[in-house]
Amino acid sequence: MTITFDHVEQEAEHIATYYFAPERLVQYTAGQFVELSLEHPHADNRGRRRWFTLSSSPTDELVSITTKHTPKAGSSFKKALQAMLPGDQIQMSDAMGDFVLPKLIQTPLIFVAGGIGITPFHSMLTWLHHTNEARNISLLYGVHSEEEIIFQNTITSAGVHATIIVDQPAHAWGGQRGMLTADSIIGLEPVNDDALIYVSGPEPMVEQLEQGLLHKGVKKHQLVLDFFPNYVTD
Ligand SMILES: Cc1cc2nc3c(=O)[nH]c(=O)nc-3n(C[C@H](O)[C@H](O)[C@H](O)COP(=O)(O)OP(=O)(O)OC[C@H]3O[C@@H](n4cnc5c(N)ncnc54)[C@H](O)[C@@H]3O)c2cc1C
Repeated sequence: MTITFDHVEQEAEHIATYYFAPERLVQYTAGQFVELSLEHPHADNRGRRRWFTLSSSPTDELVSITTKHTPKAGSSFKKALQAMLPGDQIQMSDAMGDFVLPKLIQTPLIFVAGGIGITPFHSMLTWLHHTNEARNISLLYGVHSEEEIIFQNTITSAGVHATIIVDQPAHAWGGQRGMLTADSIIGLEPVNDDALIYVSGPEPMVEQLEQGLLHKGVKKHQLVLDFFPNYVTD
């Protein structure tokens, strides 16, 4: 369907959320992703199409994506995204994917986000807040530096127990330091047999955490994984 660029909001120095008005109601579940086609001249070899999680909630009027820009080395797609003007139209596929909340609302959930992997959780937490649905959720959110922490208002409004872990913090950072590891997830709280662990982020991080968690005795069926292939976190 055609979606019309409405506005952009800067979340952090290099992270922005792009808002679009859809031509008709978009049917999707919080946490799903779409493919965007953005026509632009002189596209590089990575082309004109990209997958993005919808960071918006199905309860929102506009749909949004949130992405990180790499200054200088960014793709032609991301440069064209940054150059969009209100009223510009692009194409969006149907939403897809099963990185969505489980039907059983009693299921204890541990959300683990690496960097821009926070996007599906933003969609889910906004949806829960808008619909007043209470779930038992802990969030572990890992970033390289504290400047990359986004969506703090949503996390606070949703009332989830959140731990932010920074691997290259400034001296003054008073929170947790280090990388996301299976130990940091397990150490968060006991992972009961009925709990589900949702992990979202760059592919190597998700794979590493999956192996680590399985090694620690977490069952495969307790892991719900969403990875962003080719996503480089430099
Ligand atoms: C299901 C799914 C959901 C996703 N959700 C999101 C999301 O919510 N947010 C999000 O940001 N991404 C998401 N992604 C990833 C997204 O599709 C892009 O792959 C990612 O944002 C990188 O974009 P880019 O290729 O335009 O590169 P950029 O972001 O511009 O650059 C990323 C890196 O690639 C390098 N690079 C740039 N251009 C080239 C080139 N021509 N050749 C070689 N290297 C280059 C840069 O040096 C940089 O290190 C998702 C992917 C999938 C599959």
